[in-house]
Formats: sequence, structure tokens, C-alpha cells
Amino acid sequence: MIETRIKSAIRDVPDFPLKGVLFKDLTPVLKDTKLCQEITEEFAKRLRGTGLDAIAGIESRGFLFGLMLAARLGLPFLLIRKKGKLPYKPITINYQLEYGSSQLEMQGGDVHPGWKVLIHDDVLATGGTASAAAKLVLSQEGQIAGFLFLMELKFLTGREKIQELSQNIISLASY
Ligand code: AMP
Repeated sequence: MIETRIKSAIRDVPDFPLKGVLFKDLTPVLKDTKLCQEITEEFAKRLRGTGLDAIAGIESRGFLFGLMLAARLGLPFLLIRKKGKLPYKPITINYQLEYGSSQLEMQGGDVHPGWKVLIHDDVLATGGTASAAAKLVLSQEGQIAGFLFLMELKFLTGREKIQELSQNIISLASY
């Protein structure tokens, strides 16, 4: 089962980047080419029947499988980055973190009005980041076709936060 394979490849790193956080390190997955291909295939399979015009990946680990999947499905890949990284007509959204706030950006014109966009990141935790990414797409008159994650930390209830934006929430491994 793909979930078991992902879980045995993921490395848990305690107290990174802050004390009390158990960081899910996906770098061992990236060294297993066959597993990367299987993950991409599983994503493609789980998305069958979902109409998509583009995939938007969240910096930076959302770029890894995001681009692989976009290439596999023959779809445009859009970057969602931390503030100040994108050169062309950046559009900014502010969002609240547990402590403080943060900002994400997309480039103006990346999302065509009416496009059905899939939001992708490696981990769904509290859902704040994915929710802000979706709102950036909505602000450009795109539609949210769904959310796709490699992993979901269920105890942080991110799914509840993002399901108002799309009910189509896929994750391959749950903790
Ligand atoms: P959130 O906005 O709380 O859903 O956090 C999601 C973002 O933080 C994603 O970009 C994740 O890559 C990262 N993240 C949060 N918690 C973890 C964790 N325990 N391990 C790895 N990445 C995490």
C-alpha cells in the first residue's frame, strides 16, 4: 500500500524548526525514484474525473511533486511563493499563523479567469497556508478544484479549515 511505503520513507525529526514540532522530512522519499513515480501515479489516479486547468504548488516542498504531477497530466504549473520572491506583478495575501502573520504571493495573470486550479503542498497541518493559497487563486477569479497533499496531520484539523473552499481534499498518508 502506498501509504505504508510513504510512511516508512518519511523521516520524523523532533523539535524542528521549533521545539515541540515533529517535522515530517520528505527528503528520503526524493531519493527513491520508484516511490516518487508511484506517488505521482497515485495522485493522477486519485484525481481522475476532477476537471483541472492548472496545478498551483506552495513553496517550497509543494514544488517537488507539484511539477512532476503537472508534467504527468500535461497541465500548467503555477508557483505560490513567500513574499518577495516572484519577479512579475506579484499579488499578495496576508494570513494569520498561530503566532504572528505571513504573506504568500502569485504572479498576476498566472490564473486565467474561470480556471479550475488544484492547490498542492507536501503537508496539511493547520490548513492556514493552503487556505491562503486558495484565496490567492480565488482573488484572480480562479476556481478551487481541490487540495492535494502527500501527508495530513489529522490532529491539527486543517481539513476543517479548507473544506469550505473545496470538498475535494486528497492526502496519501495520514497521521
Ligand atoms: P499549515 O499552514 O499549518 O497547514 O502548515 C503547512 C505548511 O507548513 C506546509 O507548507 C508544510 O510543509 C509545513 N509544515 C507544517 N507542519 C509540518 C510538519 N510537522 N512537518 C513538515 N512540514 C510541516
